[in-house]
Amino acid sequence: MSKLIIETKNLKKIYGGKAAVDGIDLAVERGSIHGFLGRNGSGKTTTIKMLLGLTHPTSGEARVFGLNPEDRKEGVRIRRRVGFVSEDKGLYDHVKVEQMISFTRSFFPNWDLEVEGRLIELFELPLRQSVKKLSKGMRTKLALLLALPRRADLLVLDEPTEGLDPAITEDTLQILVGMAAGGTTIFFSSHSLSEVEQIADHVSILDRGRIVVEGPLDELKENYRRIHMVFEEEAPEKALVAAGAAQFRRVPRSLTVFADRDVETIVDRAYLHNAVSVEVAPVTLKEIFLECARSETGGGR
Ligand code: ATP
Repeated sequence: MSKLIIETKNLKKIYGGKAAVDGIDLAVERGSIHGFLGRNGSGKTTTIKMLLGLTHPTSGEARVFGLNPEDRKEGVRIRRRVGFVSEDKGLYDHVKVEQMISFTRSFFPNWDLEVEGRLIELFELPLRQSVKKLSKGMRTKLALLLALPRRADLLVLDEPTEGLDPAITEDTLQILVGMAAGGTTIFFSSHSLSEVEQIADHVSILDRGRIVVEGPLDELKENYRRIHMVFEEEAPEKALVAAGAAQFRRVPRSLTVFADRDVETIVDRAYLHNAVSVEVAPVTLKEIFLECARSETGGGR
């Protein structure tokens, strides 16, 4: 069996002449927790919809479990094996919480009652209340409760902790980690970089429809460095950019740059230009994100 649960090749979606997803190659391995990041409007939800056959790609290919979401029958087979929390949480407003749960349960013969019971207790959901009256966080909890007990091979979660308080978020993340340890693959989008950093083993960062950073989280953090340099005179920006640095902070005689390669060359170049001090430090996922994912207008920071 292929190690890849999700695979896309040059996947593209154009809306009104504008690329929402602009030719992405994704590879999500079995059993991994893959964080899918990007600023608002970068194309995360559109990608997820294409993976599940909920919207058609303009071009390119997607495979989930080796199946083609574009094919009607294969799309159904994919959706049967996926636990999905959609961006809008996909709930029926005009039923009670308990009805929504029993209705969903009836579609899944392998439904895990033990997980359902644990989540009902943890989330303290008002079972008799109408779904319409649930708060934002409660809606997220219900959407998770409808997705996690399915014994799905793949969980696709579009902002699964949106609106949850920190304690419930923490418990939910631990449940997800436990499910991944049991062999479930998790592909999730989130704006919370600390959560992604806490549980993901692999990340992809989207910027205006393109993947700009991708890889195992450990490797990314291992490779990226912040280099802070102080010079006797004006910082030699051009020489350092030519050596591979992406500049991101500058005051007259000091420069902080960010690099995932050629760190030694940049440091050598700094000393060649009479640097008074050079400090190389590791970075967080947040710094990688802020450096690589620009605003929709492309104005940068
Ligand atoms: P967010 O973090 O805000 O949820 P996202 O990364 O999920 O954003 P998408 O919802 O995929 O981003 O949107 C990507 C781009 O595609 C945006 O510019 C959005 O306006 C556009 N878009 C999404 N859906 C449609 C649609 N049905 N028709 C036209 N444009 C769309």
